[in-house]
Amino acid sequence: MPAAALSPEVLAKYEPVIGLEVHVQLLTATKAFCGCRNHFGSAPNTNVCPVCLGLPGSLPVLNEKAVEFATLASLAINCQVRERSIFARKNYFYPDLPKGYQISQFDKPIAEHGFIEVPTANGGTKRIGITRLHLEEDAGKSLHEGFSDSATCTYIDLNRCGTPLAEIVSEPDIRTPEEAFEYLTRLKDILLYTGVSDCNMEEGSLRCDANVSVRLKGAERFGTKAEVKNVNSFRFVRAALEYEIERQIEVLESGGRVTQESRLWNADEGRTYSMRSKEQAHDYRYFPEPDLPPLIVSAEFLAEAKKKLPELPEARRARMVAEYDLSTRDAATLTASREFADRFEAAARTARNPRRVANVLLSEVGGRLKALNLDQEQSPVSMAGIVQAADLLDEGKISSKQLKQLFDVCFEKGEDFPAVYDREKPEQITDASALEGLIDQVIAANPKQVEQYRAGKTTLAAFFVGQVMKATKGQANPALLNELVTKKLDG
Ligand SMILES: [Zn+2]
Repeated sequence: MPAAALSPEVLAKYEPVIGLEVHVQLLTATKAFCGCRNHFGSAPNTNVCPVCLGLPGSLPVLNEKAVEFATLASLAINCQVRERSIFARKNYFYPDLPKGYQISQFDKPIAEHGFIEVPTANGGTKRIGITRLHLEEDAGKSLHEGFSDSATCTYIDLNRCGTPLAEIVSEPDIRTPEEAFEYLTRLKDILLYTGVSDCNMEEGSLRCDANVSVRLKGAERFGTKAEVKNVNSFRFVRAALEYEIERQIEVLESGGRVTQESRLWNADEGRTYSMRSKEQAHDYRYFPEPDLPPLIVSAEFLAEAKKKLPELPEARRARMVAEYDLSTRDAATLTASREFADRFEAAARTARNPRRVANVLLSEVGGRLKALNLDQEQSPVSMAGIVQAADLLDEGKISSKQLKQLFDVCFEKGEDFPAVYDREKPEQITDASALEGLIDQVIAANPKQVEQYRAGKTTLAAFFVGQVMKATKGQANPALLNELVTKKLDG
């Protein structure tokens, strides 16, 4: 039953407590404990060997790259990396887990005590603690759909068995579904910047489970939590939490008790369902993995990882706000991906005026892409084209109106800026006497503005420039026009 009937007063009595567990597949070439290819989309059961199939007598060998990536991710989320961590067997039976256990880490994970900061509604930031990051292996995949006999059979693809995973567990510091959404967005941003995962949620490279409980405001103890499993988008996590919080409050308000259980989010119906499976009673019987020695992260290895850590999104945004004179929002657009931010900055540095490159990119290109509902990657205008346009504008060789017209052509015809500019070569009026005649006319037609200008309102010069520019259909040389207008008005 939907929980929409609760009044705001009732909802306000309670405080949600949320913790998130995120599984991220690491982008290594090979699997965590064998040499099989780590690749999404291969034909089923082709990237397998005795080790990842769990055949008797096979032994795991740890992939150093997986350790490097886990270390990089740990540093990026401000965790302390343990010098000595221990692999453990997590025992459970499932058809897609041929070994009957998963190699994971238990009481001694590779990293602990991290945090990330999320923006709050009042413009500040809030620190969300990260309990731990541990290294483990993924299981295979049961395929319940897509075969002619799917009604009666389940198929199994074991390619995913042994894919290296970092599991990142937050502290129960999150208090609203919005904060959960922000936390996940920031975390994904950071991980993408480090390059350790592609974080592709459709392909399952990033998966999220949310633990949520509610308690009366001011209560010390947490309420009984429910776990919402495997929600495949951040928006759905937010929606599932909103639903689950109201559901739990409704249970408590009607005198019932929240059951500790796993629940599944149904996006079509916008509600969670109890999984009602025996899985809830798991006892994983963890014990140290006898086939792997303790994992030692040496000081040298850690120092190397620190050197490989790129400038992270938050720091990069702050620097770009200062360097290019941008708003925080514009900086967020330009740093949406590391690759895009890199391309922008590499191009901007070759320009006469990097700030102008940012302006042209955001206002002219960004605006048109948004109107057409296109991604940056689909833009007909290259970064080099944007730099050329910004330089021409900066040198006064084209007016901003001409720039707009040229970009219109680029987007209409799907052509890059240099080609369009070469062909159209917009005419410019650089003849001072021609412009002076027009300026005289505009001055004569606007005596009131002239009076205000001469009384000290010098910003009105832009008005006269605009009028003349309009009269020339944007063809006046902007630098020359500015100079002449000021001279006439002051003269
Ligand atoms: Zn293998």
